Amino acid sequence: MVYKDDNIFAKILDNRLSAKILLENEHAIAFNDIAPQAPIHILVIPKGKYIKYDDFIYKASKEEIFNFFTLINQLIKHYDLEETGYRLITNAGKNGNQEVPHLHFHLLAGQNLGKM
Ligand code: AMP
Repeated sequence: MVYKDDNIFAKILDNRLSAKILLENEHAIAFNDIAPQAPIHILVIPKGKYIKYDDFIYKASKEEIFNFFTLINQLIKHYDLEETGYRLITNAGKNGNQEVPHLHFHLLAGQNLGKM
């Protein structure tokens, strides 16, 4: 599968579409989901062109992978979620019902999220 530059998150990354960046580092950004499913619903995406999780882990550098997960950890700390908890999800491909073909993790928190 070839990465397509016309997806929504590619447009956010190169400023064709605006999003309020909550946190950023050299290799990843975080912003609010436009249709939140919980009081806190943040999307974390790599700046590199990766379609989904397996694609990212196979192709990204160790530094990109480290910075991506570090940003998620910084959000957990920033929103004080260590104690209360959170849910981290990444949908991949057809059966995962992935809508946007640029890797993203959903960070959900702020209330009891129920069982999956
Ligand atoms: P997924 O189904 O895992 O691919 O999730 C895609 C997510 O992107 C959904 O939760 C959408 O609400 C969210 N989304 C779509 N467009 C935007 C946007 N412009 N800004 C922020 N989130 C978006």
